[in-house]
Amino acid sequence: MQNINYNKILERIHKEIKGDFGKGKLANYIPALAQIDPNQFAMHITTIEGNEFGIGNFTQAFSIQSISKAYTFTLALKQLDDEIWKRVGKEPSGNTFNSLVQLEYENGIPRNPFINAGAIVISDIIYEGLGKTKNKLLKFIKKLSENPTLIYDEEVAESEREYGDRNRAMANFIKSYENLSNEANDVLDIYFHQCSIAMSTQDLSRSFIYLANKGKSLKNKEILTARQAKRINAVMLTSGLYDAVGDFAYRVGLPAKSGVGGGIVAIIPNELVISVWSPELNSAGNSYIGTKALELFTTYASNSIF
Ligand code: GLN
Repeated sequence: MQNINYNKILERIHKEIKGDFGKGKLANYIPALAQIDPNQFAMHITTIEGNEFGIGNFTQAFSIQSISKAYTFTLALKQLDDEIWKRVGKEPSGNTFNSLVQLEYENGIPRNPFINAGAIVISDIIYEGLGKTKNKLLKFIKKLSENPTLIYDEEVAESEREYGDRNRAMANFIKSYENLSNEANDVLDIYFHQCSIAMSTQDLSRSFIYLANKGKSLKNKEILTARQAKRINAVMLTSGLYDAVGDFAYRVGLPAKSGVGGGIVAIIPNELVISVWSPELNSAGNSYIGTKALELFTTYASNSIF
């Protein structure tokens, strides 16, 4: 599978998605995300050998939102390994990403690390383990992506905070079940900031190489053990796209993580990472065009995990 030239496939996808602008909707519950130009598209591939292919605005930074949950989950797994499963589950939720309903039935243990409730618990775990979490998290992602210029977009973080009643309710509810060690507001400050990180599809596909490469980064540094990397892929496959995870597995067939900024990162284990960005979302909160573009990719490249 080495040294395939993906440029032709990316060009073909770019042409085919053009008619689909306008079919999804911008995330409007976070006002800062509702202001961006919806007619944008980028796709970028980094292979485990370090080859790169891109199309569209692949150096344009955008709000990674819930894609950040894969980085924080990585840090928490490094910290606790299998102990992590005492605080969060690993089953798909079958509910929207910001749903509260299961939390009460399940005594404050969120279904998985990729719904908001689960990511809030994960932020609490890394806050316990790391201390200056916002600094360290950003430093970690800068290293992974080899981009020292990455920033928290403070305007987005503030918008999240201002319109974050649901996430605040969730954090406090989890705390009532004693599954949050720190103050809800401190944990939410980390959560809102991690969602606000601005990255390009190029940054994303470079940074997640460790999930395609048995835990090793682009610089061949061990970020996770091969076993831990495999487990993150498993949870991405079953929970990375919220309640659209079945449709995504059916149409695309790759472990992936999405965010309401319109980004999706997908992994082909032992081969490559492919990231896509187009801001308009489908009803599950995943990029409309991004999902279609990844579906076309696995179709034209005749490559998925199945
Ligand atoms: N910041 C968003 C929220 O908390 C992230 C959601 C997402 O990307 N699915 O609602």
